[in-house]
Amino acid sequence: MISAILTSTQRQAASLRIALIGKDIRSATIAEDVALGLKVGSVIEEVRAFGREIEIVFDDGVVLRTKMSLRGSWKVFHIADWQRKKRGAAKVLIQVENLIAACIDPSEVETHHDFDPRRHPLLGRNGPDLSDPKTDLDLCVELMVEYQDADATIAEVLLDQRVMRGIGNVFRCELLWTCELHPWAKVSSLSRDECRELVSIAAEILQSRHASHDRTLAVYGRHGKECERCTGQVRVTHHGEANRVLYWCADCQNRHAGTSSSRYVTEHDTPPGVHPAEFIYLSELERARKSG
Ligand SMILES: [Zn+2]
Repeated sequence: MISAILTSTQRQAASLRIALIGKDIRSATIAEDVALGLKVGSVIEEVRAFGREIEIVFDDGVVLRTKMSLRGSWKVFHIADWQRKKRGAAKVLIQVENLIAACIDPSEVETHHDFDPRRHPLLGRNGPDLSDPKTDLDLCVELMVEYQDADATIAEVLLDQRVMRGIGNVFRCELLWTCELHPWAKVSSLSRDECRELVSIAAEILQSRHASHDRTLAVYGRHGKECERCTGQVRVTHHGEANRVLYWCADCQNRHAGTSSSRYVTEHDTPPGVHPAEFIYLSELERARKSG
């Protein structure tokens, strides 16, 4: 029996993945003092399970960590069902579409930023905020051209807060697709004009999105689906020091593919046709079988 092999925490994580991954937060409340709040509009990227802990990772790099008491659990409800229940013991509520994920009776709740030294503000000044119409795009181009680590990939640099701000992981995937850039292309392979083009497109979309809230996505969350530009298949993998998920089309994102670095590709692609949540579930099952 599958359910007998996975732990209770792994089963809860599996149902959270199916309910939450790729969706944006409509509302969220945390009934504890935490360092960082959950932002409406940010997208759930990953759900991780370790022992009795469940971590939910959002596309702005925020991680919600919950540890379960023996009676505690994460449960997913349809909104109508939830409204009929008592809310007393729920310490965290996350609403996406018509579902509510409730963390009931946890022993610990905290939030932090996913580990990524590039995102740490103490390591350097913040770069220009691309969502600000008055931002200094020339400075941003300069910071890319003079990027210290010549082997760094363009996918990493887009999330480097010292170079530019305003790009979350969802937008990073979409921007790379828009510019047909291979995600693993080295930043040093881009000419100054190409850096300028990339930064200008990013700023233009981010600034217009503030007004429109347009969330039509070409690759993010579309693993295994057809690429609308080339009819290839959208893939998902993990990338970078923080091991963030990255959706892309291997068939048409081939600008600078020849310079690509495999340095930070740390997990294999989810097999085509398999939902990432299902892939993680099956991988955990496999590990549980081996260890049990
Ligand atoms: Zn494509």
